[in-house]
Amino acid sequence: MHWRKYFVPTTKETPKDATAPSHVLMLRAGVIRQVAAGVYTYLPLGYRALRKVERIVRKEMDRAGAIELHMPVLTPLPLWEETGRDKTMADILLRLAGPVGDWRSALALGPTHEEIVTEIARAYLKSYKQLPINLYQIQTKFRGEARPKSGVLRTREFLMKDAYSFHDSKESLDREYDNMYAAYCRIFARAGLPYLAVEADTGAIGGDVSHEFMVLTDAGEDLVAISANGDYAANLERAAAAAPTPGPEVPLRAVSEVRTPNAGRIDEVCALLGTQPREMIKTLIYTSVDAAPPGGRKRRVVALVRGDHEINEHKLNKAAGATLELADPRTIEEVTGAAVGFAGPQGLADRVDRMIIDREVAVMRNAATGANKTDYHVVGVNPGRDFPLQGERVTVADLRSVMQGDPSPTGSGSPLHLRTAIEVGHVFKLGTKYSESMGATYLDAGGQAQPLIMGCYGIGLNRILAAAIESHHDADGIIWPMSVAPFEVVAIALDPRDEQVMQVATDVHDRLAEAGIDVLLDDRDERAGFKFKDADLIGFPLRVVVGKKSLAAGGVEVSERRTPAQKELLPLAKAVEYVLRRVREELSQQVRAAPV
Ligand code: ATP
Ligand code: MG
Repeated sequence: MHWRKYFVPTTKETPKDATAPSHVLMLRAGVIRQVAAGVYTYLPLGYRALRKVERIVRKEMDRAGAIELHMPVLTPLPLWEETGRDKTMADILLRLAGPVGDWRSALALGPTHEEIVTEIARAYLKSYKQLPINLYQIQTKFRGEARPKSGVLRTREFLMKDAYSFHDSKESLDREYDNMYAAYCRIFARAGLPYLAVEADTGAIGGDVSHEFMVLTDAGEDLVAISANGDYAANLERAAAAAPTPGPEVPLRAVSEVRTPNAGRIDEVCALLGTQPREMIKTLIYTSVDAAPPGGRKRRVVALVRGDHEINEHKLNKAAGATLELADPRTIEEVTGAAVGFAGPQGLADRVDRMIIDREVAVMRNAATGANKTDYHVVGVNPGRDFPLQGERVTVADLRSVMQGDPSPTGSGSPLHLRTAIEVGHVFKLGTKYSESMGATYLDAGGQAQPLIMGCYGIGLNRILAAAIESHHDADGIIWPMSVAPFEVVAIALDPRDEQVMQVATDVHDRLAEAGIDVLLDDRDERAGFKFKDADLIGFPLRVVVGKKSLAAGGVEVSERRTPAQKELLPLAKAVEYVLRRVREELSQQVRAAPV
């Protein structure tokens, strides 16, 4: 490929809202162009890289025994209604606009394809003899993301590899889950990503086991907890610290009331009482989003966490078995009999449907908390004595988010660190959630109809590209991993008007191209500095420079983007050999690369 005949619109300007390195560099290097919020064109360089990611993903999925098919982007709403996701997906599901009854209003753009693939399974997978099977596709997804951001890390249209497996036993699902997990490790290693597999939340009604594949980057929107010794990694949504051990026995004081006028916030109360947040109990009143039958009333739940802890709503929803939201001020006043900010657990268990107590609250002694009386708090409150830790409506559970420095739950006690990360892939044991709601059954060996047991496995292809840049760049530009680089090599003709320079540069280009290397010949009539800057920005892993000076010295100059200072002058044939060897080495090294 000759640069002059190619299309590489590099630019110096970056929009103000672009802050993530991958976003800035992909725009500047002419890799992508924004068309609308969260909608991008892949320019030729970007498309080449994306296709390489796609090839890696397809190859590894095929190798793992998954079977490729292609499902449509246009999906019928009635299928989403079968699982209720036409409602639970809310604005994520992008519907086609059309008058009621019009064919358009019965369609939505697929954000994911569980319903579509389960319909296929329902139609064709009738016998245990057809199981297990894993069907996958690489297809454009559409999601009504409220806040598309960070370039192609979060967009409203993106390319996903989604796979769905079907089984007749949990053991069979377990085996395929492990198989996919291993395939994902190979995919991310081959794409040059320093990835990390973390335990992930499965949601209130999700399956039982799930892992996310994460790349640590400031541009990420997830927080992961990683133990210093590497024995634990989990998404903050589900990360747990080691269970608390009860402190030394101390005399239990009597409860006494203290006036705390206008002090409804933890810090205000602490200032007034001279206590620490960790000596306080936060009492939070929630209501269920959905009204529970038979009464049709929304359920009321009280949650308790220590004053210095943050409640984790994923854990709370799971413990409550329902999706909860903070109660409105009127409900809070009705439940506690006091203004917002003065709630305490004393006497509340009988006034709500559930009381869920964080396990660290359960071991507190002589705590301070609200008095359920406006402008008053109480001190000397003791769990078990002043509010129940057991009972029909009472649960003690892990409810809080872990904090920096908390001990790992593995028993090692190694301190947890919180890091921002971006999710590039997700594997999930779904169980029978979809097959049950859609009636997808098979006949087992005894001729009994059973719901198909499912797993699902997703990878964001665009995110792989962006995450590769987040992980591999410097002040001058992108440093592409060899496996996904749009071109592995740039051959730069320093003075294209010089016949000999052009002839040697073309020779380098042709020999490499002949050997199957992706090489771009920079034949532009521009200053050397300008061309070097572009090469750095675009991030070709290897560079061969042909100039009058190098030819006079006996050859061409070879260097690598990662180590620009190391330049080697080699005769043409040797330079070609060097490039071939380095490409081969890098590609095989990436296959073997271990996770961080
Ligand atoms: P997130 O939590 O980041 O919104 P998700 O959990 O909703 O992602 P999944 O439904 O698990 O995503 O989709 C599988 C994969 O698709 C993700 O691991 C991610 O790589 C990719 N992906 C999801 N949403 C987007 C998006 N808006 N833009 C780009 N890639 C995405
Ligand atoms: Mg996910």
